[in-house]
Amino acid sequence: MLYHSTRSQDFRADSAQAVLEGLAPDGGLYMPESLPAFDWKKCLKGDSLSMATDILSALLPDIPDMPRLVKNAYTGKFETEDLTPTVPVGGFHVLELFRGPTSAFKDVALSMLPQLLTAAKSAKGMQEDILILTATSGDTGKAALEGFHDVPGVRICVFYPYGGVSQVQRAQMVTQEGNNVAVCAIHGNFDDAQTGVKNVFAACRDKELPFKLSSANSINIGRLAPQIMYYFRSYRDLLDAGKITLGDEVNFSVPTGNFGDILAGYLAKQLGLPVGKLICASNANNVLTDFIRTGTYDQKRPLLKTTSPSMDILVSSNLERLLYLLSGDTELVAKLMKQLNTEGSYTVPADLLDTIQREFWAAYCDDARAAEIMGRVYKDMGYLCDPHTASGWAAAEDYVAETGDSRPMVVLSTASPYKFPVAVLTAIGGDTSGSEFEQMERLSQITGVPVPKNLAGLQGKEEKHTGVIAKETMLDYVLGL
Ligand SMILES: *Cc1c(COP(=O)(O)O)cnc(C)c1O
Repeated sequence: MLYHSTRSQDFRADSAQAVLEGLAPDGGLYMPESLPAFDWKKCLKGDSLSMATDILSALLPDIPDMPRLVKNAYTGKFETEDLTPTVPVGGFHVLELFRGPTSAFKDVALSMLPQLLTAAKSAKGMQEDILILTATSGDTGKAALEGFHDVPGVRICVFYPYGGVSQVQRAQMVTQEGNNVAVCAIHGNFDDAQTGVKNVFAACRDKELPFKLSSANSINIGRLAPQIMYYFRSYRDLLDAGKITLGDEVNFSVPTGNFGDILAGYLAKQLGLPVGKLICASNANNVLTDFIRTGTYDQKRPLLKTTSPSMDILVSSNLERLLYLLSGDTELVAKLMKQLNTEGSYTVPADLLDTIQREFWAAYCDDARAAEIMGRVYKDMGYLCDPHTASGWAAAEDYVAETGDSRPMVVLSTASPYKFPVAVLTAIGGDTSGSEFEQMERLSQITGVPVPKNLAGLQGKEEKHTGVIAKETMLDYVLGL
């Protein structure tokens, strides 16, 4: 199956190559020429691993031996065998995506990506090492390190914004073990880190290097595709619980940053899954809310620090894939992306906005509202959720209040509350004194919810990667690895 850049039909690659390269040579993102025919009803009948196998074999047919890769990726790594359980909470259903090795939803994709990448590498007979270059707003970094440490033939380098991640997220990354890992903070925010990584890619294009660069961010199709599975899994759980019958549409509210998670939901719909509205939830960095409501994407605004740092993003890379999917027009996408780069904003044509609004709805919530929701959901419904999930809950409530849509609502829960103990303790009225580890313990004592083992185990671990560099020196740093 052929993939091509979102910005030009001329840059083509098969699915294995697309995974190896990450970004297309013109800076666009790889998309399949057309989506394959897919037996979604049959897919729903399997367990989580077979769902993942079906979806990944369909989208990445040039990567051989998918059943084995999926088994290697997930077996024994998650708290539950179905990987991503859906539980009823109040009038909604919560899809828990944080039961993996680093307690954030990115584990679903980043457990799988190393398998895809090493298989693609051998399918292509590639000899040189791959260097995975990643910018993180907090969760991707650790999930990628966990997936890639000590994988032969691969090295990994993670950049994160200094002061822009939670203490727990920082501790997860700077204590990472492994012979092939580098972690470095930059003076700047997440967008600076992401732009820096894109610039390093561009600068290295024509250089003779001892490694080939690739990406673990959701600009890589190998990172995006594994996320489709849990929409199927959740739908199936609602079927099994008797909440829906086959064919009923289900709405999903998705805490959104780089637009990868929610785009996977749209791809699930394209593959046939009866998905109703996809609700794009943001925090106070509400650039996507404005875009989906008005058609103008305007990144010329300050990036605010919130209690949901993994969504503190102004440049949502995967939106480019949606623009391509809905318009089919690479020239238009290239033009809009150029405008974004030079002018900091763009406006989509009215018919494209109509199409977007048929599929998506958007809302945002600030820190105070997220706290109110975390407190209320805990006190009234006995469920502890994190600030990112709270933004998804807020958007779901707003959507139902505004539209009266009565289709079942699944709120995606993207992180464990234990990754953000200060915000969660504050919201439920607990004492926030002491270190984040003391806060985790206290949160656990109050709520009876156990601290995930991977987080409890961080305390006292040696900090191995404490460097901080200027964002202008990221290229030198990479060349020095
Ligand atoms: C990455 C992340 C998000 C945003 O996901 P995107 O795919 O970037 O939209 C939301 N919540 C948490 C906890 C995350 O780690």
